[in-house]
Amino acid sequence: MTQTFESDRAWTLLRQARAYLTGHFALTTGRHSDQFFLLARLTERPDWLYPWAKELAGRLTPYRPAIVVGPAMGGIIPAFAVAAQWPGTRMLFAEKEGGAMRFKRGFQIEPGEPVIVVEDAVTTGGSVAQVIEAVEGLGGQVRAVGALVDRSQGSLAFSAPFEAVLRAPNIPAWEPHECPLCRQGVPLTRPKQ
Ligand SMILES: [Zn+2]
Repeated sequence: MTQTFESDRAWTLLRQARAYLTGHFALTTGRHSDQFFLLARLTERPDWLYPWAKELAGRLTPYRPAIVVGPAMGGIIPAFAVAAQWPGTRMLFAEKEGGAMRFKRGFQIEPGEPVIVVEDAVTTGGSVAQVIEAVEGLGGQVRAVGALVDRSQGSLAFSAPFEAVLRAPNIPAWEPHECPLCRQGVPLTRPKQ
């Protein structure tokens, strides 16, 4: 019997890892929220991450690539873990430079090579779109995009099919002057610092 990775189990694992928090948070956008994803707390434990990677690789198997690419930094560990599910698959990462994503460190993609892009969480999909551009700039073919958590509310339109282990519900974010938690005097935290 194949074990399926149900979303209940995914949420339980996120809470156990303290990778999903509830409280009062300052986001990098300057807005405030009552929920926060801190996926580094999940990926810091390979034994916690591997069921997610296995699930994502299973969903992406129809697009099986020669290369899995992760955007630095958040995508590197999930991309590595997904690539590890397919023997012989390479794993590269792209880095931000001058407002674009680039391959450095001597990484090579041959024209026509099939590629999957894997990210930890996607919201606007900006980094993933830049990685797709970088891959295509080298002649690679992006077959699919994968993420551990999809926070986009279905708003993304990548040039390739998109799979995520968990689709997050709509998470509210407020401008500080409109934040109900500020009004209640709940202490504000910045989990990534
Ligand atoms: Zn607030």
